[in-house]
Amino acid sequence: MADVLVVGAGPVGLTMAGELARHGVRCRIVDRLAGPLPYCRAIGVTPRTLEVWDDMGIAREMIDAGLWIDGMRSMIQGHPSNDMHLDLSDLPYSELGLPQYETERLLTRHLVRFGISVERGAAVQALEQDANGVSVRLEKNGATEQARFRYVVGCDGAHSTVRHAVGIGFEGEAFPMTFMLGDVHIDWDLRRGMALRALRLVEDGPPAMFIAIPLPEAGRYRVSMLAPMDLAASGTSDHGIQSEARGPELADLQAIADDLVAPRPHLSDLRWSSLFRISMRLAAAYRRGRVFIAGDAAHIHPPTGGQGMNTGIQDAYNLAWKLKLVLDGTASAHLLDSYEAERRPVGAEVVARTRAASEGYGREKGHAPDRLVDTQLLVSYRGTGWVRDDGAGDAASPKAGDRAPDATGLRRYGVGFPVRLFDILRGTEHVLVVHLAGGDASDLSGFARQLRAESPLPLRIVGISAHDVAEQPGIALYRDTERSFENAFGAPEAAFLVRPDGYIGWRGPSYRDPGLGAHIGRLLGGKGDGG
Ligand SMILES: Cc1cc2nc3c(=O)[nH]c(=O)nc-3n(C[C@H](O)[C@H](O)[C@H](O)COP(=O)(O)OP(=O)(O)OC[C@H]3O[C@@H](n4cnc5c(N)ncnc54)[C@H](O)[C@@H]3O)c2cc1C
Repeated sequence: MADVLVVGAGPVGLTMAGELARHGVRCRIVDRLAGPLPYCRAIGVTPRTLEVWDDMGIAREMIDAGLWIDGMRSMIQGHPSNDMHLDLSDLPYSELGLPQYETERLLTRHLVRFGISVERGAAVQALEQDANGVSVRLEKNGATEQARFRYVVGCDGAHSTVRHAVGIGFEGEAFPMTFMLGDVHIDWDLRRGMALRALRLVEDGPPAMFIAIPLPEAGRYRVSMLAPMDLAASGTSDHGIQSEARGPELADLQAIADDLVAPRPHLSDLRWSSLFRISMRLAAAYRRGRVFIAGDAAHIHPPTGGQGMNTGIQDAYNLAWKLKLVLDGTASAHLLDSYEAERRPVGAEVVARTRAASEGYGREKGHAPDRLVDTQLLVSYRGTGWVRDDGAGDAASPKAGDRAPDATGLRRYGVGFPVRLFDILRGTEHVLVVHLAGGDASDLSGFARQLRAESPLPLRIVGISAHDVAEQPGIALYRDTERSFENAFGAPEAAFLVRPDGYIGWRGPSYRDPGLGAHIGRLLGGKGDGG
């Protein structure tokens, strides 16, 4: 019997199910559609999502299927400005372009490796919860199934049945305009990996626009623009792809390109097209008892900056390890409160930021935006009450709540090649990373034995030092040959408890600091969910 039902097999539901499976949680995943949608909504994959996929073991196959998006040509009132180049080469990963249908195909393939397949044509109609579980009514190819789960995660998109069923509000508003999308071939001199936006600014209204985002296949682009009035009238819902409405013809797309792009490009071979509309809404809560929502079910906003799918993927990554610890009885159910405490402020910030960016589109003034803002590497859970910072005496050191940065050139005795910190962190446990000043780790080894005896938290313990340190039982030791770890984490003696989602849960001046035990105690609370 499955413990968790994941509703919806978009990118967020597929990530949720894949992560639950990787953590060893039994789950089912259902989607009301008979097959995936052919439209390409998300293309932009943030550097942070690639780090998540790295941990999941699927970054390479995603990168192989995509292309790097590393620049943009802007054309305002017919005049090209200098091409903007986005250099993220100092980060583990840059910004990838991968059509959403490819992301979904590869996430589905990843799930199959765990023996899980999406149950298609299966729609959740209603659910009811009590103290021990959730009863769900599923409509499957004309038949009704009543099933029971310990938890349900609604990843069922903007019009979420799950969110409605548990009465969570979704306040916000819709843009009045309708947009159109198409997948076309374009002949022009734009370098591979470059996007283009051509705008005509008007007083008191949204700019006329033609935006082309490159797809991996040579010469192909996903183009988007405002729909003319006659087409706009056929849109029915106030968010997302209007799949019931007739999409634009190639001539409709070409007319806008001719009007805004100089020299006029030649569009051909339209593969699909669609209308779409945009609303901005944030769920009033991310959880009701044993029912959670994630992804577009919890937050919708303009696609500016390519944040929606990426934010949803990180919702799922945040929740999966917590459900695991609660379901196997290691932590009490109160750990699940941290999901909303950590992720809802992130959703609120993304809705506000993308709304502002979209309302000021083409009229950006002043400083260039922080190049990291859309990478999602700056997301932090500081101050949420679920991380603990006991200081480390070094301003350069990342704080509790921050994403743990990567480090390179780490050498382990007996292994003939260097590894990265992300290689060491990969996995489903917490990792206590200790920055050792000297060459003796015998005390850390003794501490590891004691900690494991006292705490049920699945934990690995890693010592990193600039010096050679003799091997000790129960811990893994690495030499910081390039001082890359020291550059990223600050001076020695500090210790960091890194969570399974790569965030620093606790930071202290030494692994013997009592704050570590207090933090683990808070995380695990009293009893588990009942095993
Ligand atoms: C034009 C456009 C461009 C975009 N570009 C980007 C971008 O570059 N980067 C980015 O990060 N985001 C982008 N987005 C946003 C991104 O597409 C969404 O955020 C993403 O699809 C959300 O994924 P999801 O899994 O939460 O929901 P969805 O993809 O909507 O999936 C929900 C699934 O739930 C299923 N479902 C619904 N109800 C039920 C039910 N009752 N029972 C069973 N199944 C159900 C649906 O059939 C669907 O398959 C863009 C969006 C648009 C419109």
